[in-house]
Amino acid sequence: MTHLFKHLLPEQPSHFINGQWVSASESDEVLNPSTGKVITRVATGDKTTVDQAVRQAATARKHWAKKPQPERAAFLGAWIEQVKEHAEALAHLLVTEQGKPLSEARGEVEMALTMLRYSASFAWRNQGEVLAASAPGQHSVTREVPLGVVGAITPWNFPLALFIRKTAPAIVAGNTIVVKPSEVTPLSALALATLSQKAGIPAGVINVVCGTGRVVGDALVKHPDIALITMTGSTGAGKQIMKNAAEKVIPVSLELGGKAPFIVMNDADIERAATDALNARMSNCGQVCICNERTYVQRGVYDAFIQALLKAAAGVVVGDPMAESTTVGPKVSVPEKEHVEALMKETLQEGGKVIWQAELPRDPELQGGNWVAPAIVTDLPDNARILREEVFGPILPVVVFDTPEEVIEKANDSEYGLSSYLYTRDLSVALTLSDALEYGEVYINRHGPEEINGFHAGWKLSGLGGDDGEHGYQLYVKRKTVYIDYH
Ligand code: NAD
Repeated sequence: MTHLFKHLLPEQPSHFINGQWVSASESDEVLNPSTGKVITRVATGDKTTVDQAVRQAATARKHWAKKPQPERAAFLGAWIEQVKEHAEALAHLLVTEQGKPLSEARGEVEMALTMLRYSASFAWRNQGEVLAASAPGQHSVTREVPLGVVGAITPWNFPLALFIRKTAPAIVAGNTIVVKPSEVTPLSALALATLSQKAGIPAGVINVVCGTGRVVGDALVKHPDIALITMTGSTGAGKQIMKNAAEKVIPVSLELGGKAPFIVMNDADIERAATDALNARMSNCGQVCICNERTYVQRGVYDAFIQALLKAAAGVVVGDPMAESTTVGPKVSVPEKEHVEALMKETLQEGGKVIWQAELPRDPELQGGNWVAPAIVTDLPDNARILREEVFGPILPVVVFDTPEEVIEKANDSEYGLSSYLYTRDLSVALTLSDALEYGEVYINRHGPEEINGFHAGWKLSGLGGDDGEHGYQLYVKRKTVYIDYH
């Protein structure tokens, strides 16, 4: 590991439990996606490590939950200062373990800061309601109280921002937390844990246990003292987590996969739609749950749209993610790269036509990386696998349609329901189609990311519960009604 990370990580990255680095007999390699080289080894835990972390979090909770909310929020303020001070090192660490271009990594650090600031703004919020009295001398209140110890499970595509997205609202509400980061990208989470300690957040409030989903994630979900599981990841893992949580009758909040349709109507601003369609596909090498997974263009502007798309695609630079000029980095891992390659192969067998493909980097240093050539594909049959399954890579399928009814049917014909995009200048069309789209998010004439005060929540197999905003915060509290007779 480079000298740059010495303030963020210990020499031997391990679990972070009750403010201590806890080593383990087992460890796993963390690889750099752009070179395939080992960055470092990180401890991997088991059921015992999870139990240790949850117990410490349960002990810490006794004091943490009693602190007034403004005091808890002040700790977030100190954490913000630490993240700001180490922002550039965090961005470099993110590029090293995840492979997104440096400009996007800096954006993710900003996203994490916004999430921290937003949760800190909950310092002085009202924490309940006074009920109408049913008789004189009655005073009844419904109060929000913390849940207890929260278990958070995060994926590899936004390892820094999603750690904060779960941790900040959980702890400001008075919970303590045990986080299991993705085994592919555990370093960003450990770096943020270091900074939380530097910010003075008491030991045991934030804990991190590294390891696989099958062992550590599973043990976290099944632990008897976990009061909520908040998870972001694939639909398959989400279903398994929900089944296990049902045994304990605890709530789950699941942010799962997506298959966002991107609809361009005849009256759209074509240049803008094409640029956004491309960016919404290529960002983070296509590894965003709200990515444009399938573009539908109305026949009247199809040719013009393709021309504008090709013009925008000429600006794509695939290469070393540390270079300022790079716009697309590698896929995060070998299995992820192979998944996209297999989909691409099948797309061609199904008759898909590649109308543009980017060049891969030639630098010898990068030859061991997980490179996938970004591409635009047309002429696909309706039932093409690439139009139905989450691609999570830089391949952009474009499909022509005739009527609004036809495109709504195609857009909604999916088991997912997270994000959707619509480009039109006609307000009536915008609102009518937005009503018809069976998605938790509709972006009209703009692409993402989602806003911190919105509610990021998928419909159908895209999830349950959600993150951000007032609705996201509400998932971290339960309610207690207290009835008082003061006569
Ligand atoms: P993944 O499901 O493989 O892993 C996510 C996390 O779950 C990891 O920490 C993993 O170890 C853990 N896990 C896996 N199986 C588990 C189990 N049985 N019990 C407990 N934990 C388990 O997902 P990924 O490949 O890391 O991430 C990509 C997926 O995440 C994509 O499908 C993407 O759409 C989704 N995602 C969704 C959102 C959203 O907000 N909806 C955001 C980002 C990513």
